[in-house]
Amino acid sequence: APAKENLQFQTEVNQLLHLMIHSLYSNKEIFLRELISNAADACDKLRFEAIGNDSLYENDSDLRVEVEFDSTAHTITIRDNGIGMNRDEVVSNIGTIARSGTKDFLQKLTGDQKKDAHLIGQFGVGFYSAFIVADKVTLTTRRAGVPKDQGVRWESDAQSGYSLETVTKETRGTEIILHLKEEEQGLANDWRLRSIIRKYSDHIPLPVKMLKTAEEEGQTSTEWEVINKANALWRRSKNEIKDEEYQEFYKHISHDWEDALAWSHNRVEGNLEYTSLLYLPSRAPFDLYEQKQQHGIKLYVQRVFIMDDAEHLMPRYLRFVRGVIDSSDLPLNVSREILQSNKIIDSMKSGSVKKVLGLLETMAKDEPEQYQKFWKEFGRVLKEGPGEDFSNREQIAKLLRFASTQTDSADQTVSLEDYISRMKEGQEKIYYITADSHTAAKNSPHLEIFRKKGIEVLLLSDRVDEWLTNSLHEFAGKQLQSVAKGALDLSKLDSEADKEEQKKVEEQSKNLINQIKDTLKDKVEDVRVSHRLTSSPSCIVLNEHDMALYMQHLLKQAGH
Ligand code: ADP
Ligand code: MG
Repeated sequence: APAKENLQFQTEVNQLLHLMIHSLYSNKEIFLRELISNAADACDKLRFEAIGNDSLYENDSDLRVEVEFDSTAHTITIRDNGIGMNRDEVVSNIGTIARSGTKDFLQKLTGDQKKDAHLIGQFGVGFYSAFIVADKVTLTTRRAGVPKDQGVRWESDAQSGYSLETVTKETRGTEIILHLKEEEQGLANDWRLRSIIRKYSDHIPLPVKMLKTAEEEGQTSTEWEVINKANALWRRSKNEIKDEEYQEFYKHISHDWEDALAWSHNRVEGNLEYTSLLYLPSRAPFDLYEQKQQHGIKLYVQRVFIMDDAEHLMPRYLRFVRGVIDSSDLPLNVSREILQSNKIIDSMKSGSVKKVLGLLETMAKDEPEQYQKFWKEFGRVLKEGPGEDFSNREQIAKLLRFASTQTDSADQTVSLEDYISRMKEGQEKIYYITADSHTAAKNSPHLEIFRKKGIEVLLLSDRVDEWLTNSLHEFAGKQLQSVAKGALDLSKLDSEADKEEQKKVEEQSKNLINQIKDTLKDKVEDVRVSHRLTSSPSCIVLNEHDMALYMQHLLKQAGH
């Protein structure tokens, strides 16, 4: 490679950089949290890789982050002795954004500072937050185990791309120098930096150090001093941990910007020993519906980070859960292959699922407003649950919320238990309708007879509802029945007079029915007199086992 190269940022990076600098200005202190968080991740990765290869430590296994400043040069330096990066890694990690859905996400940004700050928070701020306070950033790094003359220097002013250079770096790891903007030069200050570190990085299980100057008998000496608590938060006992500490730790592991909605912290003892700290975010990340998603549960073995892994420790329908699971039983050299079929992993997973469902159940009962917030963000994902997790189907079903003819609002607030408690005498089934919008569901002619009889119908209009009703056939012994499928037997709910009336209508319509049948011939399976409708002239009814019209419609759209 040439001595020094100039490269352009990927378009997405350029866009994001500018929006971030503009919209996160009022939260500028978070740059330090993000950079320390990255340093901690890098140390975690090194510790894990070094399990199988001790030489990576290069005789320095005392992992740490150092923060220094220079009030004359107006710089802040953040240094770690973690895994470091090679040239390719610098280009792909710092120069590009590989997350799917990024383009769509960027299009949602409005230029409105407050709205964008929320959106960027959902995206995760990360390394680029350095440019909120710096007009030039110099990153020098060397990957552990790589020769000293193969260090990499990356430098950028966020305007004209970045430069890359091969340099000699004595120590492994990454050093980032922030050249502060003129109006941010006040940050190069001992007291300010210490208080920002304590505020945002107290709980990180890695020492963050700053230099302390001591004056003794006319002699000045400097030494490194640990600023943060530097213990693994999840290993401390619950009653010692403040809510703020839980929240800051959440932000570190989740890369989220906002507070968590709730959490569950558990130490499991007995056959299996592990600690779990599981959080529910307050907002959905922008890529919740992308196939490949970032960050979920971090797996630790005896405080050693093993990997970020969503699949093996949380099912898809709980993919929004963030947190840490720290096992005392797994071997430290556990590999991805082992994780794929491992009894310990399986039981930690099912235990953790129970904790999350329990947390949701308690919230739904004790804090219904909080629960509604949760449902608005993640309800559509939870609806995947009954189809994915048979063993917890009933418990998940209890957590579901729907719109219904009872409330006549698009808000999904009605639980199946609510529904059952309002069932009419003689009513045996839970009735629902699926459509591709709430308005379509609400105005469906299929509902007429139900409205007339005062029977509640659940109005389902999320994409996932078809999948849900295909997998959830009953709840609390009551069958779920689509009002658009098969023969509706509402006869138990009819009065004798109703029945007389219906018989009469059927007799009178015989000729008409036969005429229609002759005309439509094999275009339809059957023509029947309907008692479903009260004001619409006719409607199409599907056979019990046909896919609902909506599903057919979807498949057609998808080109099937
Ligand atoms: P995230 O931390 O969410 O992955 P960032 O923008 O903070 O996103 O960082 C992007 C990537 O750059 C990281 O995933 C990591 O691979 C790399 N990186 C950043 N800082 C460091 C560091 N101090 N040491 C090693 N790699 C780093
Ligand atoms: Mg980061």
